Amino acid sequence: MSLPERTCPICGRPSAPPGERSPRPFCTPRCQMVDLGRWLNEDYVVSVPTEPLALGPESGAGDDDGDGHDDRER
Ligand SMILES: [Zn+2]
Repeated sequence: MSLPERTCPICGRPSAPPGERSPRPFCTPRCQMVDLGRWLNEDYVVSVPTEPLALGPESGAGDDDGDGHDDRER
């Protein structure tokens, strides 16, 4: 009777044997990093904040072009 062999989810090779510092269920630390990178990348994409910019037209206060020219001739 043999134990069900685990395979690396990244490359499909038999995973590393159990032990201290074993990258299981991956075959090598390299594949472990690949998987981690995928997770981080996905999380990064999802967590991009999409805030609508609230740009309102500034009300033109102080529309005063009066130069005080109010001297009537005649
Ligand atoms: Zn692998």
